[in-house]
Amino acid sequence: MKQRLVPFYLFACLLAGTSNCTHTAGDKTSPPSSSAQMDSASFSAFEQRFLSALWQIDPEWALSAGYYAHIDQVTIPDEAHRRRYRDFCQAMEKELKAFALTELKASQQTDWWLIHDFLAETQWRLETFQSHVWNPSVFNLSPSIARLFEAQSLQNEQRFRAASRRFATAAAYYEAARSSLKDPTLEHTQLALLQHASMPAYWQKSYATTLESSQLTRAEKQEFQANLKAAIAAVETHIDWLKKLESRLQAQGARSFRLQPAIYRQKFMHELGAASAPEEIYAKALAAKETTLQKMDALATELYPRYRKGPLPAERLKRIQEVVGELSRKHPEPQALRQAIEAQIPALERFVRAKDLVYLDPNKPLVVRDTPLYARGVAGASIDAPGPYDSGGETYYNVTPLDAYSREKALSYLREYNDYTLQILNIHEAIPGHYTQLLYANRSPSLIKSLLGNGTMIEGWAVYAERMMLEEGYGQSPELWLMYYKWHMRVILNTVLDYEVHNKNLDREAGIALLRDQGFQEQAEAEEKWKRATLSQVQLASYFTGYSEIYSLREEIKSKAGSQFKLREFHDQFLAHGSAPVKYIRELLLKNPSAPTTH
Ligand code: ZN
Repeated sequence: MKQRLVPFYLFACLLAGTSNCTHTAGDKTSPPSSSAQMDSASFSAFEQRFLSALWQIDPEWALSAGYYAHIDQVTIPDEAHRRRYRDFCQAMEKELKAFALTELKASQQTDWWLIHDFLAETQWRLETFQSHVWNPSVFNLSPSIARLFEAQSLQNEQRFRAASRRFATAAAYYEAARSSLKDPTLEHTQLALLQHASMPAYWQKSYATTLESSQLTRAEKQEFQANLKAAIAAVETHIDWLKKLESRLQAQGARSFRLQPAIYRQKFMHELGAASAPEEIYAKALAAKETTLQKMDALATELYPRYRKGPLPAERLKRIQEVVGELSRKHPEPQALRQAIEAQIPALERFVRAKDLVYLDPNKPLVVRDTPLYARGVAGASIDAPGPYDSGGETYYNVTPLDAYSREKALSYLREYNDYTLQILNIHEAIPGHYTQLLYANRSPSLIKSLLGNGTMIEGWAVYAERMMLEEGYGQSPELWLMYYKWHMRVILNTVLDYEVHNKNLDREAGIALLRDQGFQEQAEAEEKWKRATLSQVQLASYFTGYSEIYSLREEIKSKAGSQFKLREFHDQFLAHGSAPVKYIRELLLKNPSAPTTH
């Protein structure tokens, strides 16, 4: 799925959420009667100020959060803007630190920490990480324009007018990008090229042709066409620049995509918000790899006679590989992938309701669609939800069509997303994974918790949901369990791969061999994952980190509650705190185990 994005062009993707939350903890109409209440009310006022200043400085983030007061403002991602962003962070940090943490309500203390962590991380990104210097793919005008047209609560005319203003700034936008990019990597240059290549044709097709149906005046339509034309020319200039840059980097060498271990560690601590350091998580992942292989071996040995003739191979990896290979042959045809996904969603919903596992909102439909062109290039499937202010917006389940693949490559991909693992994918992305969690986050009484969402909690929840569904009896069969472990091995190896790529100089050949031989992944999947490990850092480790933390928290609460433990209650209470780091939710749940949920 996509994650958060702050400053819009410094974070790669974004978290979203929906709903008009009532986020004030203090009631402004009744006078506070003690100093604690006073602090609580003034902290609520501070949160409002923080958000309103944030939307000023980052109107693109506001747009994706579904807050439309600044749709006419456009960020030019230059040094002056980065300076203003740093000033904003410093000013807010000062205000935040004026509050005594102990005087705040428990849920406000979490907000305090979320704002604190966000400000620290953003300053670190601007001053130390500096992706604007080396990552050309952070500069992309298309997502904010697409957001305008996806926003349900905007009038068609508002969308066209705001898009027109955005198109008018394209030349300045890409000029600022080029002067920021002092030392790009080859890999991120190629990603930017891929994402921009089809943009001119896509814009022409999507916007110029629908303009006529709008109620804009003749003059406005002409202006729109002129601005679109100028924007297309600006993107074409940028594509030429990227192509020349690519050739130069190929000929002369470029900055490495690998982070230095010290920077990796800093990014890990800032971005994941985990309780443990990267070395500990890495060691935990290596141990999990071995126990998972043992479980897979037991299942493969049991299933072997059903699927293979001849004696059981003596070697463990070979036994597992052969049975997994047989099960992977059951998969949809390339052109039927999206339909296969669509067909499974109602079955997952029925199971969750029948077992009473977690609250599902009956009024929020999930729309399965082809991934929009501008967003293609990294993941195969993702959830794309509207922002927390845009209660009417649709939640999309993006599935990237395989039409750009050769038949051989498409089949290799589908052996990976076969009839078994496709079910796990749908649990992860949709129900009760990301889609369910994001809707929940948007109902949370704290807008801060919805907006400053923690990717580790979000991915951890989706991975936890896979395991929990199987433990509760979904699709009960040794085949599904074996394929689940293979799938889960991917989460484990994501962590191993990410750590070794950035800390131990793991090379491409060894990285792909690890995924293929010990993770039983298809060649195409392993190659894609390698690519992702070169384009991202730390994020691949968030899945295993978050999963481990949520699973241990559940076990801890379960053993404390004994026979009183109810799974549905744990899930509803856990999710009611928004996408906060697990360590903060843990504190809230342990302090106040019977806190009412939003349902
Ligand atoms: Zn995910």
